[in-house]
Amino acid sequence: MGPGTRKAEGPGMSLERCPACRSRLADEPLCPRCGCDLTLVRRADSQSRRLLGQALQAWADGDKQQAQDLIQAGLQLKHEPLAAAVLQALKAA
Ligand SMILES: [Zn+2]
Repeated sequence: MGPGTRKAEGPGMSLERCPACRSRLADEPLCPRCGCDLTLVRRADSQSRRLLGQALQAWADGDKQQAQDLIQAGLQLKHEPLAAAVLQALKAA
């Protein structure tokens, strides 16, 4: 799966509305209503998800410090509630 791969999984994770005007979106790179460039938003989205996956892998490998660093990097790109929850669990573990 590359950064530009279209994926159907992840309920609620896909970008369905323009962050600027809340217009409903298909797969266009630009919002048809306001012209907002969605490629950067989508890139941050997939990047933050990839970082979360790497963090979980690091955690599984027993490297909690690395896992926290990866999650925090992901959270800077995008505030993902799932990532924030994992970070809390990590700190409590
Ligand atoms: Zn828009």
